[in-house]
Amino acid sequence: MKIAKDCIVFMQYTLTDEQGQVIDASTEEQPMPYLHGHGNIVPGLEKALEGLKAGETIKVAVTPEEGYGQVDPQAVQLFALDAFENIDEIKPGMQFHAEGPEGQVQVITVREIREDGVLIDRNHPLAGKTLNFEVVISEVREATEGELEHGHPHTSE
Ligand code: ZN
Repeated sequence: MKIAKDCIVFMQYTLTDEQGQVIDASTEEQPMPYLHGHGNIVPGLEKALEGLKAGETIKVAVTPEEGYGQVDPQAVQLFALDAFENIDEIKPGMQFHAEGPEGQVQVITVREIREDGVLIDRNHPLAGKTLNFEVVISEVREATEGELEHGHPHTSE
């Protein structure tokens, strides 16, 4: 079957940045499942995979607009040091998970420790980047009712 809305897709993928550095990849033994048409993956990749079948391969460059968005300078903010007093040691490059305005998980990166506070970046770590995906479709199947209800695949087996 072809990839269309409400399919569960298993894919092997490699994600590289503009310099060809591997940012993320699935293992060959464990292709990554997602529910197509429900925003589980970035819009640019979801669009490119539409209509493909198991065994097919695709290379796609996803622009920031169709990936994790552009870098928002407003999302870099200075926080008082005491906001981090329950953390033993705070260092540039550290990442935390926080809840965003719509309850979604946000990654927060510590940019700089200053005398007057901590510079925090709420931009997605891949914001502003063109994402080069190489994808092999391993399997396409219909989603179950439970999967559609939850908006994600159930594949713990
Ligand atoms: Zn679920």
